Amino acid sequence: MAEPLILQVAVDAPRHAALGSVLDYTSEQPLAPGTLVSVPLGRRQSLGIVWDGDNSPPAPGVELRPVGAALSALPPLDAEWRALVAFAAAYYQRGLGELALAVLPPELRRLDNTQLARRVARLQHTPPAGADAPVQRPELSAEQRTALQTLAEMLAGAAAPRPVLLHGVTGSGKTEVYLHAAEAALARGRQALVLVPEINLTPQLEARFAARFPGHVLASLHSGLTPAQRLRHWLLAHLGLADLVLGTRLAVFAPLPRLGLIVVDEEHDPSFKQQEGARYSARDLAVWRAHRSGIAVLLGSATPALETWQRVREGRYQRLPLAARIGGGAMPQVRLVDMRALPQPPGGERVLAPALLQAVAERIARGEQSLLLLNRRGYAPVLHCGACGWKSGCAHCSAWRVFHKADRTLRCHHCGLSERVPRACPDCGNLDIAPIGRGTEKLQEQLAELLPGARIARIDADSTRGAGELQQQLGAMHAGEVDVLVGTQMVAKGHDFRRVTLVAAVNPDSALFSSDFRAPERLFALLMQAAGRAGRDAEQAARSEMWVQTWHPGHPIYAALRRHDYEAFADTQLAERQTAGLPPFAALALLRADARTADAASGFLRDAAALARAQPGITVYPPVPPHVAKVADVERMQMLLESPSRTALQRMLADWLPQLNALRAAHKGLLRWAVDVDPLAI
Ligand code: ADP
Ligand code: ZN
Ligand code: ZN
Repeated sequence: MAEPLILQVAVDAPRHAALGSVLDYTSEQPLAPGTLVSVPLGRRQSLGIVWDGDNSPPAPGVELRPVGAALSALPPLDAEWRALVAFAAAYYQRGLGELALAVLPPELRRLDNTQLARRVARLQHTPPAGADAPVQRPELSAEQRTALQTLAEMLAGAAAPRPVLLHGVTGSGKTEVYLHAAEAALARGRQALVLVPEINLTPQLEARFAARFPGHVLASLHSGLTPAQRLRHWLLAHLGLADLVLGTRLAVFAPLPRLGLIVVDEEHDPSFKQQEGARYSARDLAVWRAHRSGIAVLLGSATPALETWQRVREGRYQRLPLAARIGGGAMPQVRLVDMRALPQPPGGERVLAPALLQAVAERIARGEQSLLLLNRRGYAPVLHCGACGWKSGCAHCSAWRVFHKADRTLRCHHCGLSERVPRACPDCGNLDIAPIGRGTEKLQEQLAELLPGARIARIDADSTRGAGELQQQLGAMHAGEVDVLVGTQMVAKGHDFRRVTLVAAVNPDSALFSSDFRAPERLFALLMQAAGRAGRDAEQAARSEMWVQTWHPGHPIYAALRRHDYEAFADTQLAERQTAGLPPFAALALLRADARTADAASGFLRDAAALARAQPGITVYPPVPPHVAKVADVERMQMLLESPSRTALQRMLADWLPQLNALRAAHKGLLRWAVDVDPLAI
């Protein structure tokens, strides 16, 4: 009998588990790398992926188990895909098999080969997008033509194309450039991948692509799909049947055998960074993937991430500006309201400055819409007893419970604990407990009093919990059934509201004094993006305004916003980052520990730090609690690692982290630890 072959198979096991995540198995037949195969793992059968290995025989005496059935109905995941997954696992310090299996559609684990073969066969007849309505292509602007020409020249050149930053405000025609670049890729017989930050933005974009590409199959990939849909769309991508793949961050891992272009829209958006498990940045992986495949990647933004901007300054990325709005519309005029100068209204708090309220009322009279931004949902962030000082803290978190008036609950936004509002102070029985501060619910209520007869709607995570609620509310806004929309940052992104001529940030100051060094960058991006919601129609642009209520009107962020001057803002920020040794001038990693007590968490981190001390060129900071230290009775601590060299930090993490599992046993109260490479929130 012939010797069985040895196969390396990636299985779902964490990187630092004792057994590793690529294991040896035997097989009677050869199976190509990238083949999905069922394998025994411990006492269960589990899905694995045949990985690239040397197929060398095992050490004598090691008993290998045979692989089970292969999912041969599926073409193997190609070398490009495997390289992407291997890079991401190594860079973000996760198990290779763990990551590889996490980014596959979960349905694959449920189906046997026959069932899968049936689904694959059915997909061969997928109808293309859109009807055969004639395709409308606007005449490109000079800047759009230049951008596309440069892109074409780069692709025709011998060297791998540099990543491109398409730098333009909302309405400057970036999407039109994506469409043309995609068209060129399709004409070469290639697939295009388009990443967007938010699932809510996919329908709008999907419709635009479908209208432009009738006769082509379009697949979308995001977490809002049912498991069956997700498998279907993933298969369309992997089988090469879909020419266009649109999705949120997880779509960066879509297998695409004919990939020819990647677009990352709103590339600065924090939601491209995964916040649990493998904490990858889909934007950064998109750049890596494009580089490896020698294809173009287009990063679009009005306010690029400072990491991206620095690469432009170094000449590593090519910036293509779209300086003007299509149709020549001006950006809205920014008006800062100095809240210090306003007298306190008798017996109450100031909701909106009188001039702003007046401006909103004028919009209503003209049949135009206003958008009021307040980044805090609920009615009030805390309830307070004036008699004894009680506040509505959460028993399980180091946070206040938020007062929601609509259903009269106190809700913790961290652990989800929700209770009916007490009728009297739980500590002293005082009946007079009062909300402090203001959230979107209260703003909506106050506006209803100040603007009688106005149609005031609200969009935030609470108002859009039900299926279809968000789409319905957006629909009402588009149909002109709303005069004033109150919302959190959810409404600042992407939505193309045609009738909005006034946007106001009601209380944006808190971000100015955050301990997170990225807070100013995020605030500036949010305000610029919000400003972009106003005056999208050129004829209205002239009377469009962005209002900012602030107690710090002299702050440089607001000065830059007023001039719509991203570059001045970015250059100042980068100078500060350079002085402080912060990204993009340093590489960071964050080691997090969760434990029953804060002492147990910091004890683990301190012992971990002791193991790391020997590394030159790496600074290990003392453990500190994050902004909200306790969540659901779990105490959290974090420890920052910093190095001027990304490579040095990578090497150090790879050496160091394997030792931490051994350390775990000595720290009984420790629940879990995790590392976040290139963390976004600190
Ligand atoms: P962005 O993605 O930068 O917000 P879009 O590509 O969505 O900008 O363009 C804004 C609006 O202008 C859209 O309605 C789009 O159809 C239109 N548009 C884009 N390019 C042109 C053009 N060259 N001529 C006329 N209209 C255009
Ligand atoms: Zn009390
Ligand atoms: Zn809580």
